[in-house]
Amino acid sequence: MAEVTLKSIEKTYPNGFKAIHGIDIDIDDGEFIALVGPSGCGKSTLLRMVAGLESITGGAVSISGREVNGLEPADRDIAMVFQNYALYPHMTVFNNMAYGLKNRRMAKDEIDSRVRKAADILELAPLLERRPQQLSGGQRQRVAMGRAIVREPSVFLFDEPLSNLDAKLRVQMRVEVKKLQRQLGTTSLYVTHDQVEAMTMADRLVVMNAGVAEQIGTPIEVYDRP
Ligand code: ADP
Ligand code: ADP
Repeated sequence: MAEVTLKSIEKTYPNGFKAIHGIDIDIDDGEFIALVGPSGCGKSTLLRMVAGLESITGGAVSISGREVNGLEPADRDIAMVFQNYALYPHMTVFNNMAYGLKNRRMAKDEIDSRVRKAADILELAPLLERRPQQLSGGQRQRVAMGRAIVREPSVFLFDEPLSNLDAKLRVQMRVEVKKLQRQLGTTSLYVTHDQVEAMTMADRLVVMNAGVAEQIGTPIEVYDRP
């Protein structure tokens, strides 16, 4: 069970700027939550605090009932999917997906089996020996997903993962990502500035403004208001 609990979360940056003002969110196991709101409202600050890439200056983040405030990203049972994919250009698709697992000194057979399983799910099996520049944008995005999947995390953290794709591919990929998330049942926190994307993918949305969660609810609750 991978609930994620954000309790009275605050962030004050070292320059004194307060980016997050006491946010409370309870995310259920398997739930897909989208963080939406205008540029600068604090979405990625909040996501990075859950990831452990940014320190928490007030409140607590818990994953599966365990407070993670002081833990390194590698110890949080999360995987991030970034906007720029962050693929290694000189490595094959296989090695891009395997890289993090190799660093953990996982057994070779286990790495092989995880990468092949992810490649099957993502329809990347025929492309494992290619390098990123030999892939389409959608395929690269799938490799980025693959790198997250092979970690078999309890939580996916998405930072605008589709925003570099063209409009048509973006629509196609949001269906794919959503289907995959449902299939794996992995609790997900998804940052986007695209309201349609949020509405079509998320079980619930958190509408942020100036560091505050203004509304939390299902797409219907959030967008069907008078
Ligand atoms: P969003 O992801 O919603 O666009 P961010 O979380 O990136 O917003 O930023 C929230 C606010 O915090 C913005 O006003 C931004 O300028 C500010 N901010 C982000 N990083 C820093 C930093 N390292 N130091 C000071 N302020 C920052
Ligand atoms: P490890 O995670 O085993 O320490 P990696 O090379 O995979 O080794 O990662 C180095 C750092 O980057 C770690 O802190 C790790 O958690 C983080 N990291 C790498 N890939 C991801 C990812 N997809 N999601 C979240 N964190 C990642």
